Parts: sequence; C-alpha cells; structure tokens
Amino acid sequence: MSSIQRFLSVALFAAEKHAAQRRKGAAAEPYVNHLIEVAGLVAAATAEPDTNLVVAALLHDTIEDAGVTEEELRERFGADVAHLVMEVTDDKSLPKAERKRLQIVNAPKKSVRAGTIKMADKISNLRAIRNSPPVDWTEQRKAEYLDWARQVVEGLAAPNPVLKAEFDSLMPSRTQPATDQER
Ligand code: ZN
Repeated sequence: MSSIQRFLSVALFAAEKHAAQRRKGAAAEPYVNHLIEVAGLVAAATAEPDTNLVVAALLHDTIEDAGVTEEELRERFGADVAHLVMEVTDDKSLPKAERKRLQIVNAPKKSVRAGTIKMADKISNLRAIRNSPPVDWTEQRKAEYLDWARQVVEGLAAPNPVLKAEFDSLMPSRTQPATDQER
C-alpha cells in the first residue's frame, strides 16, 4: 500500500469512528475536521517525514472519544502508532479535573513525538475557541482553558519549535489583561 493510500484509509477509519461526534463550538463542525487539522499541523512541523506520527495524529482521539482499543490500533496500524496514541490518551476512568491536572504533571515525561501531537491538538482547540467557541463558555472559562493549555505545553521537555511558535502566537499578549481578575 502506498503512503497516500495508507493515509486515506486511516483518515476514513478515523472519520467513521468519530462519525457521530461534532466539535463543541457553535459551528458544530464534524469531528474529522479537527483530526485532519491536527495531522496537517504535525506533518507541516516535522522536517523529516514521520509517517507513523501523522497516522497517530489522525487517530489521536480514537481511544479516548470513540471507543477504539489499544489492541485494535496495534493490529491495524502497528505497535508504534498504538503506543503514540496511548501516550496522548487520558484515563477516562478519572474525573475531568484530575485528568487535566495529570496532563500538566505528565507533560515532562512525554516523548518528543507525543508532545508534537499534543501541541498540535492544543493549537487546534485554541483556534476553535477563538473562531467558534462553545456558546455556553464565558470569557473566564476560555481564559482558564488557555492557561491550562499553556501549562501543559510549557511542561514539555523538548517542544517542536514550529508548533511552539504557533502555540505562543495564540496566547494573549502579556501586555493585555489575560483574565477578568487581572483587569
Ligand atoms: Zn483532539
């Protein structure tokens, strides 16, 4: 199978697994838009082609949000891809606040490749919050999300420089008030 055929079959697998899911924003885009955006960010940010990394980016939410198992990913896409997806998957048996805390705590232990997917994921989410925020999100909730995402990304030991620059460009500038409390 050529790499183009492989990418398309992975994209179709991810699209089918997330078919019932929409983005949380007001525009409620199909979830696959997010997956293709994250994979595109990863592909554009890595100088050496890393096929498995881009494949894992397309699949990064399949275990956490679409009921796919690590075993299924290993059988279909290989151990390297399955391992990468596991590295960016939260333990859904834990409460949300604890999962978010652990993302910050565990960021320094992530491999460079997993950190690359994580940053691309956060960039996609920050863009979504800017362009089509969930209707029930207050300015404070958006600011809290930005602050949490910044703590995760700043914890990465060796962040991809291209994605780090893009991430930083989405942060509010230091000269402007970041939260309601600082205003
Ligand atoms: Zn995601």
